[in-house]
Amino acid sequence: MKVRNLEGSHSLTCVCDSWLQHWENNSGKKAENCSVLNCSQKAEVGGHVQKRGVSDNNWYIIPICTGCNNKHGQEYEVKEDTGFISVNETSQCGQQLINEALIKAGKYTR
Ligand SMILES: [Zn+2]
Ligand SMILES: [Zn+2]
Repeated sequence: MKVRNLEGSHSLTCVCDSWLQHWENNSGKKAENCSVLNCSQKAEVGGHVQKRGVSDNNWYIIPICTGCNNKHGQEYEVKEDTGFISVNETSQCGQQLINEALIKAGKYTR
């Protein structure tokens, strides 16, 4: 799968602390390595991308390293098991924050 890296973090926001957090909240997974093929860096940020070669103009978040994220406007091949989370997917956003607040208040147990 080829994607195009977008410079999106300035115009879009979410209640999640970061876009990497947004990815983790909605995928239910912990971000580990950069999604870019042949990159073995740790995933540090949630990168905004568009899928190439498909009629899908939605913006997605994938976990990537800062080095790859800084290559704005570039296209790259991503790993096969990359989880794409739409920027519009908000069903789990802020969930963790709410849980932590409730735990602190003693009203919620895991
Ligand atoms: Zn979010
Ligand atoms: Zn990378």
